[in-house]
Amino acid sequence: MKKIYADNAATTAVSPKVLEKMLPYFTEVYGNPSSLYATGASAKKAVETARENIARNLGAEHASEIYFTSGGSESDNWAIKGVCRALKSKGKNHIITSKIEHHAVLHTLDALKKEGFEVTYLDVYENGIVRVSDVEKAIRPETALVTIMYANNEIGTIQPIREIGKVCREHGVLFHTDAVQAIGNLPVNVKDDNIDLLSMTAHKIHGPKGCGCLYVRRGVRIENLIDGGAQERGKRAGTENTAGIVGLDAALQLTVDTRKKRNAHLLPLRDKLIDSLLKIERSRLNGDRENRLPGNINMCFEGIEGESLLLKLDLNGISASSGSACTSGSLDPSHVLLALGLPHEIAHGSLRLSFGDDITEEDIDYIAEVVPQIVDYLRNMSPLWEKIKKEEKEN
Ligand SMILES: *Cc1c(COP(=O)(O)O)cnc(C)c1O
Repeated sequence: MKKIYADNAATTAVSPKVLEKMLPYFTEVYGNPSSLYATGASAKKAVETARENIARNLGAEHASEIYFTSGGSESDNWAIKGVCRALKSKGKNHIITSKIEHHAVLHTLDALKKEGFEVTYLDVYENGIVRVSDVEKAIRPETALVTIMYANNEIGTIQPIREIGKVCREHGVLFHTDAVQAIGNLPVNVKDDNIDLLSMTAHKIHGPKGCGCLYVRRGVRIENLIDGGAQERGKRAGTENTAGIVGLDAALQLTVDTRKKRNAHLLPLRDKLIDSLLKIERSRLNGDRENRLPGNINMCFEGIEGESLLLKLDLNGISASSGSACTSGSLDPSHVLLALGLPHEIAHGSLRLSFGDDITEEDIDYIAEVVPQIVDYLRNMSPLWEKIKKEEKEN
């Protein structure tokens, strides 16, 4: 049977090229980067070279603006808590975000609300995109931070980050973006995009799990995350994950080098499959059709449960998801789909397909053939679908 991995927004396979670069740092160059002997010094050099490369690839001015972390969730937590807590004594106790952020941001904000911060959640309207004018209207004298993701992990919508950053600069408010999904797919540049803090992670771009980084523009005050040794300028202590850091650098370089080619491959395939799946009765594409990640499709099919669809797809060799990996397992509909204004019963029947560059036209045609069959099969046993059809007849 065909095997298709269509869940690259949840995680990706480590690229053999990335793995090859990492391997020596487990068994040969294993020294502690803080040690003075040769194998320690070599590890230190690898970490600092990675820091320089990553800074360059993100458009940062100084390598010292890059702090290594364990991934996207840690970077989001640190950026938001670290900056807001540092600003609280100055009377800044207000934060602006969007309704469709990752839980690493939303739950961090829940924690800060318990400390007395107030949070404004911006609407994303039907197309899943924040309006720059709404950001500007929400800014107050006591606003500490605006945190809005670069691209959404469920519906793939891309936010007007550069314009949002510009508005924040004009009002003297710090701007953080969770760029986990955007990195690799879009030409992210912290300087051109007016970004003060940026989160990214390796495992969404064919790097290893458990390694990411946070960009903090020079001059931005941020509280320490982990007290201990002098690593990461004393702000995030702990012996460096040398192999992971080398992997993060290699993965970022690979994705930057191959982005144009990959997107040229993915875009037409994505659009072909969207057109094909939209032919299914009572289906809809979630999120803006144009401003979306090249490998992302998120659709709803009325009258069925997303979970049953996923299980059936799995039996047919297709690994997909209903949205965020972090919400599957819970029966609550996705907060992202609800933010688009979808009613609960429709938001339940969602399917997210996220492709990597290994996807072929043949795979796309196979998915286009299998999904309508499964939707039909499930609808035939669905009381909800029966009800929808009955109401259709009555009207
Ligand atoms: C995956 C993801 C995260 C979490 O990253 P981890 O490295 O898994 O902690 C954060 N934000 C977004 C948008 C993501 O897609």
